[in-house]
Amino acid sequence: MPELPEVETVVRRLTEVLPGKTIIELSVLRDKSFQGNPSFLLDQQIKSISRRAKIICLHLTNEKIVLIHLKMTGQLIYHSKDKKIGGGHPSADWVNQLPSSHTRIIAHLNDGDKLFFNDMRVFGWWKIIDPKDLEFEFRNYGPDVNTVDFSLEYLTEKLVKKSMPIKQVIMDNSTVAGIGNIYASEALYLAGIDPRRSAKSLDKKEIKDLYNFAKQVIDAGIIAGGTTFDGKYVDIFGMAGQYQNQLNVYGQDGKSCLKCGALINKVKLGGRGSFFCPNCQK
Ligand SMILES: [Zn+2]
Repeated sequence: MPELPEVETVVRRLTEVLPGKTIIELSVLRDKSFQGNPSFLLDQQIKSISRRAKIICLHLTNEKIVLIHLKMTGQLIYHSKDKKIGGGHPSADWVNQLPSSHTRIIAHLNDGDKLFFNDMRVFGWWKIIDPKDLEFEFRNYGPDVNTVDFSLEYLTEKLVKKSMPIKQVIMDNSTVAGIGNIYASEALYLAGIDPRRSAKSLDKKEIKDLYNFAKQVIDAGIIAGGTTFDGKYVDIFGMAGQYQNQLNVYGQDGKSCLKCGALINKVKLGGRGSFFCPNCQK
């Protein structure tokens, strides 16, 4: 599942090629993937691209906004004669012919280039909205982890009331948007906090460490272009991220902790695999 750094990477890459292009035709190959009236996109120029939480926003000249969620297996691939640019879930669709059997939406652009939305599992979506509805769309989201709205005071206030395991609390979008399973595991390791601990049991220093490391791992993930675990397609067209080379605990169960040599454990928390060093994380 693409996490915030992967989505941010897609946004940054597409910002280099999409703004100024006009959508002249939209092919919706799977109705489930598109919510709203596709004709609102026609003959509209893409003014800019932004991101809130893990949702990509295309801003059009008619002021409508196209929200795009990649969910588990979504990919956005910009395809011109000589290049493919984009990202998302790593799969062979990056290198194979487009459209593929997983292509759900194609935006045809005025210069002959195309934007492909592939989604194997069909959980992702495009949705067209008016700007006035933007706030409503994000009503269940807390501040983004890499914005100033996510302050230490804010996090402290959220944690002191919650008895759930700390890992589940920081992965809850209503607390803070953008900390997924990989980055939650890594931040807790760097902060030396056992992911199973009750959120309200953290002391001031632990909250501060967690806050700083959460921002740090997200920033490092964005610089590295995100993470991928399907190494087969890494580096092809530069679409996969490199953060997996920096992982300390995520996916490392059975290996030795880089700090102390103890074996990395894996437990399930809220249905998600959670990795930690039983020696370094208390
Ligand atoms: Zn350790």
